[in-house]
Amino acid sequence: MTKALIVGAGINGLCTAWALLRAGWQVQIVEDGPIPNPLSASWDYHRIIRPHYAAFPGYGARIGAAHAAWEAVFADIGSAPYVETGAISISHQEGDPADISARSLAETGVAHEVLAPEELEKRFPMIESSTARFALLSGGGALLADQIITGLLRWLVARGAVLVPQCRVLAVDTARGAISTTQGAMQADQLIVAAGIGLPGLFPDMAAFTPRRSLVVYADPPPHWQAAWASGPCWTGIGGDDDCWGIPPIGDIPMKLGLGRLSRVANPQFDRPTSAADTAEILAGYIGIFKDAEAFRPRFTLANFYLMAPDERFLLQRRGETLVLTADSGHGFKFGALTGLDVAAALAGDEAAIMQRLAGY
Ligand SMILES: Cc1cc2nc3c(=O)[nH]c(=O)nc-3n(C[C@H](O)[C@H](O)[C@H](O)COP(=O)(O)OP(=O)(O)OC[C@H]3O[C@@H](n4cnc5c(N)ncnc54)[C@H](O)[C@@H]3O)c2cc1C
Repeated sequence: MTKALIVGAGINGLCTAWALLRAGWQVQIVEDGPIPNPLSASWDYHRIIRPHYAAFPGYGARIGAAHAAWEAVFADIGSAPYVETGAISISHQEGDPADISARSLAETGVAHEVLAPEELEKRFPMIESSTARFALLSGGGALLADQIITGLLRWLVARGAVLVPQCRVLAVDTARGAISTTQGAMQADQLIVAAGIGLPGLFPDMAAFTPRRSLVVYADPPPHWQAAWASGPCWTGIGGDDDCWGIPPIGDIPMKLGLGRLSRVANPQFDRPTSAADTAEILAGYIGIFKDAEAFRPRFTLANFYLMAPDERFLLQRRGETLVLTADSGHGFKFGALTGLDVAAALAGDEAAIMQRLAGY
């Protein structure tokens, strides 16, 4: 049996392990932290999946395949940690992200509705419609990230995957597909490095791939909007450059509010703590976007880090006996299952085509 050694137990490493085990490989995963690692980009209550991707219509066109790949994961792990809420974007001026997305969804034939402001007001009265040109509504929702990861881990271990937590990779010998780690030297038939923000530290030529700090506030809307939000959609690309994005309340998980404008290059070692000013800045970004945003009550604020590629494209690259993988740039969870299948297909012989396709998303 061919043996794969995977560096990184985030969603890309775990889904790669899942797809390779299904394809008959033996799998070992080494991870710097605990498994699961609460500091990985992948660990949170949830991550959005949606097809509107203004600048990256290729991402949108692959969302159908991404859903199908998750269905395969869910069938294996015996549960479907996904809540379909729909996903909304709002256009305020010509050429803004929602406007571009509306055109690209129409061109690529992805199902969606365009709502006039009056229709937006009727269906989603908790969202400010007075300044909207139109709203773009599509399928989409929340992948329950922590439940997916724990389900995958149970499945992987039951099928013989070897997990090595608290094992930091110190150096990679790409030609041999070997690593030196805090627990000694390791090697397999195929090494796959899916180390997220750890990649530039292992490959100095990836210095242009930068860790970005992304803030989220978990909050409660005021009582008179709670029922409306309980059946509300996920949202993205609202407010022009502010780029409001988030997830409505789901069960006991409060509403999650993000602001793309605040995502910035930062140091994961020092910049995880958040401040009252962070919380206030996010909530202020929603004034004029959600009704009564000034009355939202924050519960807690978190900062986490993802790896931004210079061109925001995904990368699967062969270096000797090593594959380097980053499908992230702040968009990667939704594609995790599909990326795992892509890596397995690449190793089954389709390597050049798959690499080209991943880079073209
Ligand atoms: C706040 C936030 C919100 C996001 N929202 C969304 C969203 O709504 N939808 C979406 O699709 N995507 C979203 N993303 C992006 C998505 O979470 C990431 O693209 C995805 O989780 C990346 O997975 P990964 O496996 O590549 O990296 P990670 O999950 O970071 O996993 C990499 C692992 O490698 C380990 N590692 C690093 N260096 C080493 C080393 N030297 N030795 C051993 N192990 C090492 C790390 O400890 C880590 O556990 C968001 C990201 C953030 C931070």
